Amino acid sequence: MRRTIFLGPPGAGKGTQAKLLADFCQIPHIATGDLLRAAVANQTKLGKRAQEYMERGDLVPDNLLLGMVAHRLEEPDAANGWVLDGFPRNVVQAEFLEELLGQINQPSDWVIDLEVPDETVIARTLKRGRADDNEVTIRHRLEVYREQTAPLIEYYSQRNHLVSINGDRPVEEVAAALKQAIIT
Ligand code: AMP
Repeated sequence: MRRTIFLGPPGAGKGTQAKLLADFCQIPHIATGDLLRAAVANQTKLGKRAQEYMERGDLVPDNLLLGMVAHRLEEPDAANGWVLDGFPRNVVQAEFLEELLGQINQPSDWVIDLEVPDETVIARTLKRGRADDNEVTIRHRLEVYREQTAPLIEYYSQRNHLVSINGDRPVEEVAAALKQAIIT
């Protein structure tokens, strides 16, 4: 299980769990949200264009972001595996990823769907206090998730090894369930 894709609504705890899993397996944690926030902070061309979408809670357009993801996955430290967090977020991205991973002969091993109810997501995200974490934007991100990202659960259940994990529990319990899922 060296190549993991994480699905789940924004605020489900994907970032925390993906990081723990990556550290445990000693492979990179690749989060498109982090890459984009770095691009915004550095005011790169991509960052300048992505910023307004991120502030609204909309997805950054695929044509801006796919090159960045391909570039990151082709870096040497990713050859040994990775935990992908926040990508793919729609079917176009999933198809792009499948093709890319096929080309570099590194298909994903499994997809984790972290399940968390909306109320928990909203409460957790409000505590996090990121720039795009006000209630209006959070609710919009949830809508975008339901419309564009949630269909990937069906997409992956037909293709890959999809494992659903209940994310509505303390961090350590979710992490333990994930480790259990790796070895079974
Ligand atoms: P995240 O840190 O994953 O919650 O992402 C923060 C914001 O970055 C999202 O609300 C989107 O605006 C943008 N973003 C992150 N990943 C993607 C992606 N795969 N596709 C489009 N936009 C993304």
